[in-house]
Amino acid sequence: MLDHLDSAAGWVQEHALVPMLWQLGLIQWEEVSQGWAVFAIYGVVQVVATYSICVPLEIWRPVERWPDTRAVVTDVIYTLVSRVGILPLVTFVVFYQVQVELTGFLVDHGWVQPTLERVLPGLLGHPLLVFCLYVVILDFSDYWRHRVSHVIGWWWALHSLHHAQRQMTFWSDDRNHVLDDIIAALWFGTVATLIGVPPLQFPILVLVLRFLESLSHANTRVRFGWLGERLLVSPRFHRAHHGMLAAGRRSANYGAILPVWDIVFDTADFSREFVPTGDPTGSEALATGGYAAQQWAGVRRFTAALAPQPAAARKGVQ
Ligand SMILES: [Zn+2]
Ligand SMILES: [Zn+2]
Repeated sequence: MLDHLDSAAGWVQEHALVPMLWQLGLIQWEEVSQGWAVFAIYGVVQVVATYSICVPLEIWRPVERWPDTRAVVTDVIYTLVSRVGILPLVTFVVFYQVQVELTGFLVDHGWVQPTLERVLPGLLGHPLLVFCLYVVILDFSDYWRHRVSHVIGWWWALHSLHHAQRQMTFWSDDRNHVLDDIIAALWFGTVATLIGVPPLQFPILVLVLRFLESLSHANTRVRFGWLGERLLVSPRFHRAHHGMLAAGRRSANYGAILPVWDIVFDTADFSREFVPTGDPTGSEALATGGYAAQQWAGVRRFTAALAPQPAAARKGVQ
């Protein structure tokens, strides 16, 4: 399958991107566009796979039904921009390029790059186990990125865009401020580089993780059972994170893939049922504006959070 994806990317590069770059006088960007094409094709596969599984689940057992779904259309735009546009580019430029350069630099200086197999030699010859460990480590780091983004005022101002949606569906996973996306990609890419994820495994890793994250936003009453909900983040578990908070209740369920971090660090709440979502503290533009209006409202909230103000107002939502 990977070969087919690479050939599809090659076709897009040869027949669409290279002629376009020649026309625009930007042929020096050929290598970047080739990298983007590979990762964008992975993005398309991600969207199609997620759509084919989540849509039937949302039709089968929806949590909510809405007469007007314009706000969901904006989330679809987020998904396409993020998975086929920006994310592949950032993934290639930041992660792939940096890792190739870093490996070259280390080899030139006679050093070896740290990888999980070097730290734990017992893992050599067990690629599937190594892949699972990558997932566990990256998910652990993502738990903390997400949790900290709720605590720091300016970061919450950006992340609150993700929480503003009152019509949460599997499309809502990518509903993020572009600055928040860039921070997340840098965070993820840095940890992936430190643990030595091979560049060619990176897209497969992202494919698996992002599918599970989309599923956790789905508008469906699917349950994983008592044990299943403790092993894998379910739509019910993540909806509780997006749920509007009753007075005195703190935010919970920060995990993206594995609920174990919430259990260990005492932020898990399995008691909340399928609650309404949204952020009453945000502006209407953040909730129901179009893509550009939401991004702009996010910038305004971000700059307001950075402006000098009383300590209480600087705090995020914990
Ligand atoms: Zn959050
Ligand atoms: Zn979410």
